Amino acid sequence: MLLDKTIAELTAGLRGKQFSSEELVLECYSAIEKLNPKLNAFITIVDKKEVLAQAKEKDKQGTRDKGALYGIPFVLKDSYVTRGIRTTAASKVLGDYIPQYNATVYQKLLDSGAILLGKMNMDAWGHGGSTENTDFGPAKNPWDTTRVAGGSGGGPAVAVATRMGAFAISEDTGGSIRNPAAWCGITGLKVTYGRVSRYGCIAYASSFDTVGPTAKSAEDCAYVLEAIAGRDPYDATSSPREVPVYSKTLKKDIRGLVIGMPKEFYSEGLDGEIKQAIVQASKVLEQAGAKIKEISMPLFDYGLAIYYVIGPSETSSNLGRFDGIRYGSGRTRFTEETMRRIMVGTYGLSAGYYDAYYRSAQKGRTLFIREYEKALSQCDILLMPVMPTPPTKIGELVSDPLKNLLADVYTTSQNPVGVPSLAIPCGFTKINLPIGMQLVGKMFSESILLNVGYQYQQLTDWHTRKPV
Ligand code: GLN
Repeated sequence: MLLDKTIAELTAGLRGKQFSSEELVLECYSAIEKLNPKLNAFITIVDKKEVLAQAKEKDKQGTRDKGALYGIPFVLKDSYVTRGIRTTAASKVLGDYIPQYNATVYQKLLDSGAILLGKMNMDAWGHGGSTENTDFGPAKNPWDTTRVAGGSGGGPAVAVATRMGAFAISEDTGGSIRNPAAWCGITGLKVTYGRVSRYGCIAYASSFDTVGPTAKSAEDCAYVLEAIAGRDPYDATSSPREVPVYSKTLKKDIRGLVIGMPKEFYSEGLDGEIKQAIVQASKVLEQAGAKIKEISMPLFDYGLAIYYVIGPSETSSNLGRFDGIRYGSGRTRFTEETMRRIMVGTYGLSAGYYDAYYRSAQKGRTLFIREYEKALSQCDILLMPVMPTPPTKIGELVSDPLKNLLADVYTTSQNPVGVPSLAIPCGFTKINLPIGMQLVGKMFSESILLNVGYQYQQLTDWHTRKPV
């Protein structure tokens, strides 16, 4: 399959006219037509004829002087507004809302010549970790369709794993890029807060939300990040820091790099096969010259509580605008899970409980930022699990809201801090379900994470395995 190739190989192939963008698009649509009815990854598929016409136009213009994503087909989580294309955030509250403008990330990809194939299934408003809290039916895991794909960006991850698109843009507030990447066997990058503009990304928790790539490898994520990162006048929280050429530093030697493994993460609660796979991965990194160091993060357990007070507080405020007047349907269309979060957040922010919940959580957040600073002063990056278990059965998490939240223990702690994290495949369970690990770095250290991810993927082939 052409879509098995890396983005760099696809670009080289297009430049050398070994194949056309039209062929890439056709290959994606044949995967979509064959697999999407079973996997339910898309909420909206862009009209094939329209997309083919765009691809032909790109082929006609030629790729000379064009960037790495020119003529490459991709998909977007349905949390990004797209002018003229239905945008739902997987909620019927938005109905068939057609935005008047483009999210910055989408506009940047259009400007670089990438081609949009569709808008992807997710947990409504980003609320969830399994793509079951959606008004469009759950997305299925391509490795075992009785299991969930992870979430909230289940649809984008399924599309990349099954080659329905060359890469995807997802959104991570507390794991929504990394969780489905781990459960679908692909690579996903949660960027530093502010690295990529959030303009036009339907807000879940504004101080946690990040916009980032999901792709087949760390190398592919580097190319996508180069195209989407940077200051945006429409988002005051976007960083003015220069955007490094991430693809240029992938091959750097990682000898001497110190990788911290916080001992708290490898104790109770973590599935045995996942633990084993990550320990094995640490040995591979050691072979590449890195040094593994055991460290301690005693406050780690508080991360989940901090996240699940501040996240719902911010979302209760953000969702206030969906009042039934300006968009689609009324508030009664919110799902049970979303209602729960609005109620918890409103409660935590209310005058009588503000000090006990919201203010305490914000103080905890400051301590937590220091906890990460301390941990990252003893090493260059941290190695952690992504999910405590392999992908769950459909229905398992939605029927047990507390279990649903606990599954986020490893992925919710980075967002209140703002640090970046790269999730990469590192093995399979005995019953052939993918396992992921995450590399967490200092603020704006994406180039180091992508460099380590790339080197690891040179020595292993987990990321090249496909479900179908
Ligand atoms: N699973 C987490 C939650 O439900 C993270 C979601 C996200 O990153 N959007 O809040």
